[in-house]
Amino acid sequence: MSIELPKLPYPVNALEPHISAATLEIHHGKHHRAYVEKTKQLIAGTELAERSLEDIVSLTASRKRKTTLFNNAAQAWNHAFYWNSMSPRGGGARSSQLADRIALDFGGFARFTDAFKSAAVSHFGSGWVWLVLAQSRLEIISTSNADTPMVHGKTPLFTMDVWEHAYYLDYQNRRAEYVATFVDKLLNWDFAISNFQYANARRRAAELTAGSHSGSRP
Ligand code: FE
Repeated sequence: MSIELPKLPYPVNALEPHISAATLEIHHGKHHRAYVEKTKQLIAGTELAERSLEDIVSLTASRKRKTTLFNNAAQAWNHAFYWNSMSPRGGGARSSQLADRIALDFGGFARFTDAFKSAAVSHFGSGWVWLVLAQSRLEIISTSNADTPMVHGKTPLFTMDVWEHAYYLDYQNRRAEYVATFVDKLLNWDFAISNFQYANARRRAAELTAGSHSGSRP
């Protein structure tokens, strides 16, 4: 399996005026590309050379120390997930099973968006803010630097990059404005909904398997 820089899921100017083509050209073409290239360089000739990016992230995750390979592989994965977390037709509320769960777990959609924005604005330094499914409950979490929910047993539904390189050209130090724009105009709910459906289907399948192994089902 070879690891490559994925194409953006939309033209480079598709998120304007919210995120400029200049930002995406640098963010995707330089930053994301550098994480991919560094990962490829570090796995060349090792037993990880044929593994998927997800495998490399999981296999190199260590609680004690983040290695250069983990940092680059996780950043490569996080960025691919982030491009898909945005859409030129994003933002707003949408009725879905996920919206129902958000209302249940956060006490309403407005409370959820307030909590997400607050987590993104207050995250100190570089990192990511995520909506994740943890067991059967939705959570908003933030991770520092390259850290990623998959190595903490949580399933990401969407993410927002809060490294300065994600917004500085367009918003300078106004992170709150970037955060509000992401949530209100860019957030790709279709992507989040499909991740939620897939995670639920996988959990149900795992429960069925566990039930049949334990003999608890007829
Ligand atoms: Fe980034």
